[in-house]
Amino acid sequence: MTFSTGASHKLLYFLRNCATLLSMENEYEKLVIISSPSGGGKGTLIKKLLDDVDGVWLSVSATSRQPREGETNGKSYYFMSRDEFKESIEQNGFLEWAEYSGNLYGTPRKYIHDHLDNGDVVLLEIEVQGASDVMKRCPGCHSVFIMPPSLEILESRLRGRNTDSEESIRKRMQAAEFELECAEQYEKIIVNDDLDVAFKELKEYINRVAD
Ligand code: 5GP
Repeated sequence: MTFSTGASHKLLYFLRNCATLLSMENEYEKLVIISSPSGGGKGTLIKKLLDDVDGVWLSVSATSRQPREGETNGKSYYFMSRDEFKESIEQNGFLEWAEYSGNLYGTPRKYIHDHLDNGDVVLLEIEVQGASDVMKRCPGCHSVFIMPPSLEILESRLRGRNTDSEESIRKRMQAAEFELECAEQYEKIIVNDDLDVAFKELKEYINRVAD
């Protein structure tokens, strides 16, 4: 088969675009978003994952909310004032950020690319608005939604952990109704009814991403 010069230029242009798209996809092929309503159990599942699977790195987010008992700066979150957070937004310091339940949360850009370049699976434990931004900005990334068995069970888990005020629980339950509607946008949904079963499913999914 022969091509005219015009046709071969078009073909070359098309192939180059495909190559660019493919390399963009590869850039984020080990980036995994994990979301669930607050109290949905993603924290416990992620902790188990980090203990169990090598080569998985969890990004530490920044937040303007007050630390809870037992949380440490730089490990649980980078705790900052609202003003510091806004300054960081202006300096383009976040891959994504969102307001959730009256507080600001964001993923610092720093370190994400270092870990991806290193071949690590990079986990972002973020809520649904930020997740939607990352899905658009990072083509080829993966995403898991941890679904609570029901809103009633979610509320009783939130109350059971004894870390939130009545007002905070009310806001988080309101947010949860919206978040559950967003679950369909995720590549994988895991129902966290039985922790061991949910963990097995999550681990299999992460191992497939890592391979
Ligand atoms: P919590 O206050 O319970 O630690 O977190 C509240 C919500 O904010 C959770 O759904 C958590 O996943 C989300 N979150 C934590 N870090 C980030 C972040 O960097 N960006 C976004 N968009 N959400 C985050």
